[in-house]
Amino acid sequence: MKKNYLLTPGPTPLPPEVCEALAKPIIHHRTPGFQAILKEAVEGLQYVYQTKSDVFIFSSSGTGAMEAAVCNLLSCGDTAITVESGKFGERWTELCQAYGIKAEVIKVPWGKAVTATQIKSHILNHKSHIKAVFVTLCETSTGVTTDIKSIAQVLQGTDTVLVVDAISGLGVIDLKTDEWGVDVVVSGSQKGLMLPPGLGFISVSQKAWKLVNESKSPRYYFDLRAAKKAWEQTDTPFTTSVSLVVALSAALKMLKTEGLENVFRRCKKLADSVRASAKALGLTLLADESCASDAITAINVPSGIDGEKLVKTMRDTYGITIAGGQAELKGKCFRIASMGYLNEFDIILALSCLEKVLHQMGYKFQLGQGIKAAQEVFLKQY
Ligand SMILES: *Cc1c(COP(=O)(O)O)cnc(C)c1O
Repeated sequence: MKKNYLLTPGPTPLPPEVCEALAKPIIHHRTPGFQAILKEAVEGLQYVYQTKSDVFIFSSSGTGAMEAAVCNLLSCGDTAITVESGKFGERWTELCQAYGIKAEVIKVPWGKAVTATQIKSHILNHKSHIKAVFVTLCETSTGVTTDIKSIAQVLQGTDTVLVVDAISGLGVIDLKTDEWGVDVVVSGSQKGLMLPPGLGFISVSQKAWKLVNESKSPRYYFDLRAAKKAWEQTDTPFTTSVSLVVALSAALKMLKTEGLENVFRRCKKLADSVRASAKALGLTLLADESCASDAITAINVPSGIDGEKLVKTMRDTYGITIAGGQAELKGKCFRIASMGYLNEFDIILALSCLEKVLHQMGYKFQLGQGIKAAQEVFLKQY
């Protein structure tokens, strides 16, 4: 008998409440019944986003919302800063290039975070006007969290907008959109929000709306002006993913009931336990300690061990799916999620499987040491 467990950085496991919502009979999207659910969902998103600004839902994966940010804010020939410290930061550069926007790239070694000082000096040293800065809250490929608060401070009082990819960070790591002054935050359904893939979200500040109205970029499906116009009638421009929105509303209720602060604390505890366990096994972490993410932990594959085989054996033999390394990190690290519908014992399960497979592959360590370290973290008060 094989049971399957998901500890990947998206999709993440679905709570029974969400599965139940997904199983409901479909309803029409332009009805008062659906409008009430849509309104609940948007209000729930504003809670998780910590914003009073508009939040829009797209029927797309998270990257659709990223594209919406680029094409609604900027025009061909504009200049923006992007930060490449992993696979997802690179996506901002690629999206800018697709729309003829000049991307001023700040390259950061994978495993480290960009600093507010780096952004500031880049803006000061650059001749042309920087219209937007694109950063990533949690760089899922490396397990690094960016200090968004400090970066937002640098842009405070300027007319440069700050755009944050919080696809894996939203509802996992604290992001005070309004209080910190973040203009645009994009996210997706299949990570911290405990839903299947298929929805993209975007918040738009007053400052960002000015750019939206000025942008000359071609846009149709992702046109925020159309989304806003429809939302004035509690509607969406096109047929939205009705069932996913119904489930979104259910998932957001769960997050609200737990309380955002408690959700952040839980994810931090899980991530701390993974980190402690890795160290106890003599393994090293990819991310610098100072910027290690509470959403996902990337662990370096020890020498002499085939990293791809490790992930594959955990999945195919034991039913525990974790993630391998992406792009240049392929085979060099493996990643264990601490986002979404996960608790302490899900982590224990993954760690015990990791110990078993590492042992079978000939890695030398004392069996049970990783689990012990994780248990010790769980016994602490958070
Ligand atoms: C998952 C992820 C994406 C991509 O989202 P899709 O839903 O696959 O389009 C982008 N950025 C980050 C940080 C992510 O974790």
